[in-house]
Amino acid sequence: DLTLQGVRKEFDGVVAVKNIDLHIPDGAFVTVVGPSGCGKSTTLRLIAGLEQATDGMIQMGTQDVTGVEPKDRDVAMVFQNYALYPHMTARRNITFGMKAAGDFSDEEIERQVAEAAAVLDIDDLLDRKPGELSGGERQRVALGRALVRDPEVFLMDEPLSNLDAKLRIKMRAELAKLHSEFGTTTIYVTHDQTEALTLGDRVVVMNDGRIQQVDSPQRLYDFPKTRFVAEFIGDPA
Ligand code: ATP
Ligand code: MG
Repeated sequence: DLTLQGVRKEFDGVVAVKNIDLHIPDGAFVTVVGPSGCGKSTTLRLIAGLEQATDGMIQMGTQDVTGVEPKDRDVAMVFQNYALYPHMTARRNITFGMKAAGDFSDEEIERQVAEAAAVLDIDDLLDRKPGELSGGERQRVALGRALVRDPEVFLMDEPLSNLDAKLRIKMRAELAKLHSEFGTTTIYVTHDQTEALTLGDRVVVMNDGRIQQVDSPQRLYDFPKTRFVAEFIGDPA
């Protein structure tokens, strides 16, 4: 399980995350939704270790990871802008991290890439560079890179927001399928209510650096705890 306890993050003067308590059971698909600037990305970056909390504690399993370097946390993060290396082929982008870690044989790396490529339907694209791929294809390569790491937790920050509506819907379905196959704990940040409610088995609603409510999509509709939740969830994206 992943636990955040009293987590606060202040950037000289700006309190981005105010006092977050959150418990995420293994295998959950949690979406985090809320308006721009409410602290979604900061929360994710705190979990990834890309930001250090000003106060509070983050625990993964039985390990307190609060001060632990990103590379020593068992998480893989997928960003909105893919962050693929432009000069490397898709294959190299996917294997780069595994090769750098030095813990895997070439055969093991090949096997993992083949498996991820089959799942993501990118077998034919592996020798192309990012500039020769469409947005959706690039996104799949970025997902492939996260997949081969087989992390304890996937952290995704608006991974589909650069895609057109049609592709976004297709990729949502693919993400849901991936999750049902692999069961990896996933925390998925979006500002799109529809996306949050269709993908998440539980949804974290944030506003102004605080969690307003954590519940199933149905319960958020039926029993919003605050006016903010009622209005935000009721408001079509
Ligand atoms: P969006 O939906 O626009 O991506 P968000 O919910 O992801 O918004 P955050 O990026 O977490 O919001 O930002 C929360 C607050 O913290 C904002 O007021 C932002 O300006 C501030 N902030 C984030 N990163 C920094 C930083 N490195 N330095 C200073 N302030 C920051
Ligand atoms: Mg953000």
